[in-house]
Amino acid sequence: MARYHIETYGCTSNRGESRQIERRLRDAGHHRVDGPDEADVAILNTCTVVEKTERNMLRRAEELSEETADLVVTGCMALAQGEAFANAGVDARVVHWDEVPEAITNGECPTTTPDAKPVLDGVVGILPIARGCMSDCSYCITKFATGKIDSPPVEENVEKARALVHAGAKELRITGQDTGVYGWDRGERKLHELLGRICEIEGDFRVRVGMANPKGVHGIRDELAEVFATNEKLYDFLHAPVQSGSNDVLGDMRRQHRVEEFLEGVETFDDRLDYWTLSTDFIVGFPTETEADHRQSLALMRETRPEKINVTRFSKRPGTDAADMKGLGGTVKKERSREMSELKRELVGETYAEMVGETREDVLVIEEGTGDSVKCRDSAYRQLIVRNSSEYDLEPGEFVDLEITAHETMYAFAEPI
Ligand code: SF4
Repeated sequence: MARYHIETYGCTSNRGESRQIERRLRDAGHHRVDGPDEADVAILNTCTVVEKTERNMLRRAEELSEETADLVVTGCMALAQGEAFANAGVDARVVHWDEVPEAITNGECPTTTPDAKPVLDGVVGILPIARGCMSDCSYCITKFATGKIDSPPVEENVEKARALVHAGAKELRITGQDTGVYGWDRGERKLHELLGRICEIEGDFRVRVGMANPKGVHGIRDELAEVFATNEKLYDFLHAPVQSGSNDVLGDMRRQHRVEEFLEGVETFDDRLDYWTLSTDFIVGFPTETEADHRQSLALMRETRPEKINVTRFSKRPGTDAADMKGLGGTVKKERSREMSELKRELVGETYAEMVGETREDVLVIEEGTGDSVKCRDSAYRQLIVRNSSEYDLEPGEFVDLEITAHETMYAFAEPI
């Protein structure tokens, strides 16, 4: 869990992007603090409309990089003149706004704090079902803060879910560091049972399951695929971070799964579900990653064609075993990250291109988008944007039938039918 400080400069579009960054950081259990001096990481969302603004951004970045251990720069100046920060001697990670949450999470799992209470954010209910994990990943700093898995009983979580639905939640986001090991501390694998029970709750709502590591998924892959296949309330969406396509690197990361176990989990879902979304994560540039290991990760991405991919460039976290390993140079990491992000855009772009012309029933309107638009999610949690939404009088929380008319790389456009 990171304490973050965020500063946004420029137009409403930048402010809209910062809101989305914050929503996803909150989803992942990170906390906003009031000043850079209290923060583990500072986020600077830049503008570069005029030269004076550009100078102000560089000066502010310099100040923040001195006040905070970690600085992430995004926004227009990051996209248009990203190298200007390195040239000015500012030690910062320069990323697209959409990649800021991953950069903060740094390949680690989303964290739930002990006092984590269910949160209703618009029509979205965030339900942390457990705290901690069963792993000891060599690059992870979070485990020191959260310790081993602690799962409240199924009944307790069902009651929390019921309260969120009664409070108006139309989408329940089940979160935890590793939902796949829910119940292991009680000697049982309980995720599929919990999901089934939550889907029995009266009402029209959808359930998105948060990150589940491949090892936990592998152990209950049949039961999990079954509960997804037999419950319409459950988005057919599985987020299982594989992190690398090389078993050697997975060993050095001390990830508990092997590539084969990840693949068996994916195959089980493929056999049981016609239309679903695989979301996964790759850490690129891990210290022991060879060119051949990197090729294996690219090959795994091509083989499984995930519909959502988070790429994180490895960075050392203080106090972790991976921090003591001899790192790969910045240029190698940057080049491999560029190559992997390019493949990600190619594959995800093809996914959304194939959806054009198709129709979707009972799509949930989640939130206002930029301008006169709303963001919606279909049964596989694919993102559909309806433009000119005021014409259709669409409000967050409504279910609507849509026809997909066009696409961008990471989402598609649709119109009500
Ligand atoms: S599963 Fe690994 S990365 Fe995730 S919190 Fe546990 S030790 Fe950290």
